Amino acid sequence: MGKMGELVFYTPTRNQGTELSNMARLAYKMDEKIQLYIDGRFEDSSDEKEFPVYNPATNEVIANAAKGTADDAKAAIDAAEESFDSWSETPPPQRAEVLFKVGEMIREQREELARILTIEEGKALKESLGEIDEGYDTIMYLAGEGRRAWSNVTPSEQPNKFAMVIRRPIGIVAAITPWNFPFSIPTWKIPPALVAGNTVVFKPASNTPLIALKIIQMFIKAGIPRGVLNMVTGPGATVGEALINDPRVKLVTFTGETTTGRRLAEVNARFLRRQVLELGGKNPLIVAADAELDVTVKAALFAAFSNAGQKCTAASRIIVEQPILTKFTKHLVAGAEKLIVGNGLKDGVEIGPLNSKSQLEKTRSYVKIGQEEDAKLLTGGYDYHDKERGKGNFYPPTIFGEVSNDMRIAQDEIFGPVTTIIPAENVDEAIEIANDTRYGLTSAIYTKDIRSAFKAIKQLQSGMGYVNQGPTAAEVHLPFGGVKDSGFGREAGEVAIDNYTEKKAIYIDYSYTDRPWYFPWKD
Ligand code: NDP
Repeated sequence: MGKMGELVFYTPTRNQGTELSNMARLAYKMDEKIQLYIDGRFEDSSDEKEFPVYNPATNEVIANAAKGTADDAKAAIDAAEESFDSWSETPPPQRAEVLFKVGEMIREQREELARILTIEEGKALKESLGEIDEGYDTIMYLAGEGRRAWSNVTPSEQPNKFAMVIRRPIGIVAAITPWNFPFSIPTWKIPPALVAGNTVVFKPASNTPLIALKIIQMFIKAGIPRGVLNMVTGPGATVGEALINDPRVKLVTFTGETTTGRRLAEVNARFLRRQVLELGGKNPLIVAADAELDVTVKAALFAAFSNAGQKCTAASRIIVEQPILTKFTKHLVAGAEKLIVGNGLKDGVEIGPLNSKSQLEKTRSYVKIGQEEDAKLLTGGYDYHDKERGKGNFYPPTIFGEVSNDMRIAQDEIFGPVTTIIPAENVDEAIEIANDTRYGLTSAIYTKDIRSAFKAIKQLQSGMGYVNQGPTAAEVHLPFGGVKDSGFGREAGEVAIDNYTEKKAIYIDYSYTDRPWYFPWKD
């Protein structure tokens, strides 16, 4: 094993406990660069190029990562191919041991991992802790699969015949992930692929290779054999394309933008290969007139602005029944104005920066579009110029009122701290508006009326539905994914193992007799 990058934190003194709120915690340095991990070795890219990784709160370079090439992607696939036979023959409970060990490490390193996540992705530390915990839950749940649900025995139509369905691993899995949940999304994909006996090439988002390295380091420490899990950092356009265009890759599991997902689906179709695509969202949160105001406002604030709105599940369309519209709007705006925006490592900060300058630019451009569309800018929509926030990619929580659902700000995924309030005459109209989108990831309704709740559950077109809960929280044992342009397939929950295995039907005849219906011709 070659050199590994390590983050070095200036850790607080013991009596400061876990409530860290000092400048010491903001300081860090990266000892070494992030390298590729191929066939059990850390190495530079084949052409030795690198790219910088930034802290979005300061726009300082925090690390350099190897800029992998198509040749590096091929080498990683070679390694995954070579290790497939032995890994797929390793008993599943033994494969699961690696996952359990990684789970334990996640728990031990929880705070350090969360800080790295905040430094690299930007989200507030509390949210980062939540994401690390979600990764822990997922990996522990999936480790349990090593001893569960591996086959079914089923009756046969005939006597003295045994029928069963067994699972076989699929082969080499390419796991391509985005920057907005750079810990939890890889842990949705890599652990089920591995426990099911597949080998993996992991291509993390170029904005967040540091936390990806941490994941790899934990797997190495847990004893993952050489070649079974490989990581190639580098651009989607070269590394990602090389992965998806290699016929040896038998499954592509991807989370990212709908346009990228469509491109991947086209290539996957050419190879007739299996895919899991988790894509964008434009998620409605319906506020019925009888909704509990305070609870609903808080849920809407969190669903719209946590992770600075960079969530595929963000409540970016809040559809409000007329009788409660004025009051709800007033409270939502007041709540948004109280949110504390700043460096996510600082105590009390609720909203961190956007992950990149381009994400900030995109947000600004959509605010301009909203104004040009004559939506009413109720709060936010400005730049920060103070010493701290002026340097980073910060943007305030922004709310547009009087939005009509055909406006671009109501149809396009902005992926920033911008939400829209869309009035509706009644719940029926709200559901109609909610469904008038190309996306279908999550949907939510706040109401005390059981009839409205069930109508919404049945009629809202989305992969996940929430009643009296914001549309952003997911529990790891339930399937996650969307309909329409939000994707294809589901992750987590009971479907995780289905995604990464082929079901094979087995018939065993122990009658040792001719079955006339199998040989209806004359002897
Ligand atoms: P992108 O689609 O830009 O990138 C996602 C990953 O794909 C990155 O690793 C990227 O590499 C890679 N990639 C880009 N182009 C290609 C290509 N041609 N071939 C193969 N790989 C490629 O998405 P973002 O990173 O911007 O992520 C944000 C998006 O993710 C949002 O649209 C959001 O809604 C969605 N998302 C969906 C979720 C869901 O479960 N439905 C959950 C979370 C996010 P590189 O970084 O080098 O460009």
